[in-house]
Amino acid sequence: MSVTGGCQCGAVRYAAESLGASSICHCRMCQKATGGFFGPYVDTPGLTWTRGQPSYFASSKDVKRGFCAACGTPLTFESHGQGGVMIGTLDEPEAAPPTTQLVWPEKLAFVDRLGELAHWKSKAGREASEEFAAVASRQDGGEDR
Ligand SMILES: [Zn+2]
Ligand SMILES: [Zn+2]
Repeated sequence: MSVTGGCQCGAVRYAAESLGASSICHCRMCQKATGGFFGPYVDTPGLTWTRGQPSYFASSKDVKRGFCAACGTPLTFESHGQGGVMIGTLDEPEAAPPTTQLVWPEKLAFVDRLGELAHWKSKAGREASEEFAAVASRQDGGEDR
């Protein structure tokens, strides 16, 4: 079992048997549930909680969304006993590149241009990763990392 992930603070951790279909969803509920521009999901067959448990909000009649009550990280999208996790919560998010997008009228037009954004630079001309390299993260490293 190599698929693992969890929330920002580490109170909730999960493992899954494998990664399934991966997608992003542009509906308004996904924008609200993530605080982002779209919802990023990958199906995770055999999902089990290895530390803590998520809290849930039923965002519609058939869908519940799991999140960490301690730090607020969105974790899952579940419907009719099936579902997946938010790609950004995987320990290895590069393993789940989205292959399709669910397009709704609420899709934010600027999403298609995100790759063209200018890179932020400090006054000294350094990239963010260089400028903030000394910032100490409070991210949980995961029990298996
Ligand atoms: Zn947390
Ligand atoms: Zn959605």
